[in-house]
Amino acid sequence: MIGIGIDIGGTFVKLYVMNDHGEIFRQEKLETDYSKGSKGFVAQIGGFINAIKTEFADQRVTVAVGAPGDVDNQRGILRYNPNLKFTDVKDWPLADQLEKVTGLRPYVVNDATLAAWGVYETDLKRQGTNVLIVTLGTGVGGGLILNKELYQGSHGTAGEIGHMKIADTQTGPLCGCGARGCLEAFVGTIGLKRRALQSAVDHPASILAQTLQNTTDFKVAQLAKAAEQHCPQALQLWQDTGRYLGIGIANLVLILDLDTVVLTGGISGAAPYFLPALKEVLEHQQIKTPFEKLKLCVSKNPDIGGVGAALYAIYRAQTDLRK
Ligand SMILES: [Zn+2]
Repeated sequence: MIGIGIDIGGTFVKLYVMNDHGEIFRQEKLETDYSKGSKGFVAQIGGFINAIKTEFADQRVTVAVGAPGDVDNQRGILRYNPNLKFTDVKDWPLADQLEKVTGLRPYVVNDATLAAWGVYETDLKRQGTNVLIVTLGTGVGGGLILNKELYQGSHGTAGEIGHMKIADTQTGPLCGCGARGCLEAFVGTIGLKRRALQSAVDHPASILAQTLQNTTDFKVAQLAKAAEQHCPQALQLWQDTGRYLGIGIANLVLILDLDTVVLTGGISGAAPYFLPALKEVLEHQQIKTPFEKLKLCVSKNPDIGGVGAALYAIYRAQTDLRK
């Protein structure tokens, strides 16, 4: 069986082709082409799928698409896509359109959810029964594996942990989604930048303040670098980050009695600076058992969306065959 994984991002589209033994045949990264509108984009992706279908004509081909935003996973519709700049489409029926072009019905799922499946298969080798995967990047996303199955909720929205509220929704900081008090407003790139700039105002002589002063383009790596130079303000900023993440994770562990939490995404590279504070929040919880048994780890594959999609396509096709 051949699995095609397509990870649609605002800037890049990643395409993966692999078989059910884990052999990778194709791995491509294209710039997301907005020039021909959403129809032109579907034709381009459909063309890729058709070429793979022809190449592997003797095998069953299955497709999964990771889409950024809120996805109706039953009908394959991208309902809300703040990161894609296609202006000609709302409630985008991606599954229907791709099926028309290719004759194959793709599984369309939220991109972070598919990345979570990728982590579950590759990092954890499907160990762990109830697992949370937290993707720390520009935004904060995630996915849940419950009873060893990808959990997508009643409408396909499950796992939007970045928009879980950890502060007052009237006075808390503004999130990219438009609401206040979201976890992402504290630990996503926007949140880190806001807190770093505030720290620079409060402590203008700090290494952190000087690092930020000399650049126009804010990068999270600057905060990690200042921490590496033992800047107390940068270290404090990462500690606070760990505390905020700890609050969010503790909430989810208490609600779902998880056995494993995996951190992934670009910001997880700074884990040495924020992990101790995160663990401290978990250790201070008074309902002890789930926290004592919790396995908390950092993924070695920060960029797994496309692979996750291909793996999920194969997994779903195999599961559907058994039914
Ligand atoms: Zn939000």
